[in-house]
Amino acid sequence: MERVHDPQRMRHRVGTSRSGGRRVGFVPTMGALHAGHESLVRRGLEECDDVAVSIFVNPTQFGPSEDFAKYPRPFEDDCARLERLGVRWLFAPDSTTMYPSGEATRIRVGGPAEGFEAAFRPGHFDGVATVVAKLFHAVPADFAYFGEKDWQQSVVVRRMVADLLLPVEVVVCPTRREPDGLAMSSRNAYLDPSERALAPMIHGSLQRACEAWARGEGVVEIERDCRAWLSGLGFDVDYWSVVDEDSLRPLAGISEPPAGMPRILVACRLGRTRLIDTLRLPKR
Ligand code: AMP
Repeated sequence: MERVHDPQRMRHRVGTSRSGGRRVGFVPTMGALHAGHESLVRRGLEECDDVAVSIFVNPTQFGPSEDFAKYPRPFEDDCARLERLGVRWLFAPDSTTMYPSGEATRIRVGGPAEGFEAAFRPGHFDGVATVVAKLFHAVPADFAYFGEKDWQQSVVVRRMVADLLLPVEVVVCPTRREPDGLAMSSRNAYLDPSERALAPMIHGSLQRACEAWARGEGVVEIERDCRAWLSGLGFDVDYWSVVDEDSLRPLAGISEPPAGMPRILVACRLGRTRLIDTLRLPKR
């Protein structure tokens, strides 16, 4: 695996590979890699000839009171994992490369970038869209792999790709979970043992909702029940909502069936750790 820090060199590597007829996949990450990230890499390796992974802890997607400084950065362990998987290039730019002195440009996505995460993390998706656009320029791949766990992010990225006519196909991959159902996340490392024991109940709420949905219960009742259930267990629930997965429009109080599939979006805090999860529901 070649470690590349310079965007121009990275672009050249990908360009040479693609002009030789090879398909290139790209997995953007913030490092602290786990089996969820690995599943994106494996999917890329299945579908492409070469895979590039980026590791960049993007400062502009963290709010002032968020965990940017303490975000885990086990860089050499991450490199060893990617090397074992068979990744061809690791793109690891530094902050001044991604945000040169005097930088003054941001991408602002509306529509799906409003509400949910954006309501609790102002400016987050501007930071995500901006860094993803920069990364797509540095790593001009055929396919870019994102995780379903960050569903709103995946919708925002697809919106931006469509709106800016970016020549890349976004592939969204299923959420990898721990055996007890907790969605894998770099932030799970922040949980103390008692929080870690409770955290799978987020997934528990998704299953609880799934059963209620199958019994024909209404969206409003399901949301109310699941929020109260999680709160009763000790979670601070930021949101727990059933939405149309394409538009992210809430389904509560709406009688006509959604155009897209129904999907639960949940974010809650356990102590100082904020966790998110999601599940698609069957149409009914
Ligand atoms: P991050 O390093 O948290 O920015 O995540 C990088 C990519 O990995 C994003 O596209 C995430 O959605 C994806 N990802 C994170 N956790 C998981 C998971 N448990 N399963 C699958 N993909 C994931």
